[in-house]
Amino acid sequence: MAQKYYYYDEDSCSFQPIEYKSVDKVIFTASLLIIFGLVLAGIGITGLSFVAGTPSEIALKAENRELLSQLHKTKNRIEFFDRQLSTIAQTDNEIYRTILGIDPIDYDERKAGTGGVDLYAKFDIYKDETSSLLKWTEENVASLERRINIQQLSFDEIKTIYNENKSKLAHIPATKPVKGVILSGFGMRFHPVHRFNRMHEGLDFRAKIGDPVYATGDGVIKFSAAKGTYGNLIIVNHSFGYESRFAHLSGFAKGIRPGKKIKRGELIGYSGDTGVVEGPHLHYEIYQNGKPVDPLNFLFADISPEEYNMFRKISSENPNSMD
Ligand SMILES: [Zn+2]
Repeated sequence: MAQKYYYYDEDSCSFQPIEYKSVDKVIFTASLLIIFGLVLAGIGITGLSFVAGTPSEIALKAENRELLSQLHKTKNRIEFFDRQLSTIAQTDNEIYRTILGIDPIDYDERKAGTGGVDLYAKFDIYKDETSSLLKWTEENVASLERRINIQQLSFDEIKTIYNENKSKLAHIPATKPVKGVILSGFGMRFHPVHRFNRMHEGLDFRAKIGDPVYATGDGVIKFSAAKGTYGNLIIVNHSFGYESRFAHLSGFAKGIRPGKKIKRGELIGYSGDTGVVEGPHLHYEIYQNGKPVDPLNFLFADISPEEYNMFRKISSENPNSMD
C-alpha cells in the first residue's frame, strides 16, 4: 500500500490525507527523470571534453590538420616554381643577355633583398612546425615575387635592345645547322684520329652523309671548297664580326659559291665525312672577331631552356670529339 501524507485542516481542526491525482504523479516522476538525465549528460559531456575536446575543438583540430597539410603542398609547389625560375634566369643570362652583349645579372643580385628574420617573428607564437612552415612560405613567396620582377625588367631590357638590333640579330648565327642532336662540345677534347687531347673549336652534331645543312644566320658565302683536315668546308661571313663554319661536308647546295648572299635557314650543303674524322657528322664553328666561341651559346633562336640544359650537359660530359 502506498504511503500516505497528511496536512492539518484548520476548518475541520483535523489532519486530512493528501490526495495526489495520478497525472500529477506521472509529471512529477517524469520531471525527476529528466533532471536526473540532464545531470548525467552534463557529467558525461564534461568528462568527454577532458579527453577528446569539445565538439568545436574537435572541428578546429581537423581544420588545423587540413591547413597544415595544405601548407606542406604549397611548399612543394613553391620549390617547383623556384627551380623553374632559376632555369629561366640561367637562360636569360647565358643566352639572351650574352647574345645581345648585355651584362648578365648575377645570381646574388637576382636573389637579393631577402627580408630579415624579424619580419616573420609574428609566427613565433605557433607550434614549431607551423611557425617554421609559415616563415618559409612567406619568405619564399616574397623572394619569388622579387625574382619575377627582376626577370620582367630583364626581358623588357632585352626587348628594347632586340628592337634596336633587329638587323644584327638576323645576321648572328643563332639556329641549329642540322636537325641532329649534339654529340660533342666546345673545349679540350680527345681527338679520335690523332689520339691526344686538343682544343675542339666547335660543336659536333649527329648527321648522316647527305643530311641537309642550313645557314644559321643571314650573310655572304666567304669560302666553299675542300680545306685540309676540315674536308669540304663552307665559311659564312655574317658581318658584325661573326663567321660560321661547316666542316666535313659531302657536298655543296646548288648555287653556293663565294659572294652568294644567303638567309638564315637556307640550304647551303650536305653533311658528310670528308677530311679527318671518325665518322659522318657535322662539325660547326662560330668565330666572333676572329676567335672561336662556343656555338652552344648561340642557339638561342632555336632551342628551349630544357634543350639548352640537355645540350650543355652532353657537351660538357663527353670527353671525346668526332672532330
Ligand atoms: Zn668537331
